[in-house]
Amino acid sequence: MKSRPSFPVRLSVKEVAAGRPVHAVKPQPASRADELKAHQTLGLPGPIGLGLDSSAVRAKMVAKLAAQGVQDELVLKAMGLVQRHCFVESALVGQAYEDTSLPIGFAQTISKPNVVARIIELLRQGVQGKLGRILEIGTGSGYQAAVLSHVATEVYSIERLRALHEKAKKNLLPFRLPNVHLIFGDGMLGFVKGAPYAGIISAAGGAEVPEAWLDQLAEGGRLVAPTVTSAGHQALVVIHKTGQGFDRQVLEPVHFVPLKSGIA
Ligand code: SAH
Repeated sequence: MKSRPSFPVRLSVKEVAAGRPVHAVKPQPASRADELKAHQTLGLPGPIGLGLDSSAVRAKMVAKLAAQGVQDELVLKAMGLVQRHCFVESALVGQAYEDTSLPIGFAQTISKPNVVARIIELLRQGVQGKLGRILEIGTGSGYQAAVLSHVATEVYSIERLRALHEKAKKNLLPFRLPNVHLIFGDGMLGFVKGAPYAGIISAAGGAEVPEAWLDQLAEGGRLVAPTVTSAGHQALVVIHKTGQGFDRQVLEPVHFVPLKSGIA
């Protein structure tokens, strides 16, 4: 198998083409009060040592993901690390580790853990160790970007709704993830300043895969995107860019929110 492209050049991207700033996630201490509230809502035992621990429910979720067929150790580990309850509305914290999609506001949803794990596993197919630089279209709550940060060296995540872009920035702050870069813009154009990408993953489904994504994918890289098929329903499409062109696979039916053009 062809080895993955490496990206020795560390980007110092300050602005997207439209002149909008790129925000690296700056470290900030987690709010203990928020964590305590989430912890209580989840019905977990009291404080453990100096901090609070919701890892037991996540371990259970990870065991379920493995039983459902997720095999990539790095993906399972990442799913076990990221506190999903920090990305959902407080009223829904109790459902954060169930295998269900949840509303994140602005008519958008956070995908089921099972779907998140599945698409990241597809993105990493055949890769040992971390992936290189990747692009996520549809930051939403920032949850998937946080998971991706543990399986790739750099994560560029773009969101077209300003309110969600701001919310994701806030959600991600306590996680201290310097390799996550949030961009406000239209992801249908990709993010050319970060290209080429070892992987591109879309959290929103379009009628077809935008040309820009194919152009911005590195040779040897993979793209995973929910796409409307000729049969008229949405399915997961995986595109592998090789020296000869593109290998395209259409996999199982899925239900992602629509990919839309422009910003709002
Ligand atoms: N990955 C997210 C789930 C996001 S839902 C999470 O973990 O929470 C899909 C997101 O894609 C929505 O927030 C939607 O606004 C966004 N989206 C749709 N079309 C887009 C586009 N052209 N560019 C960027 N984001 C887009």
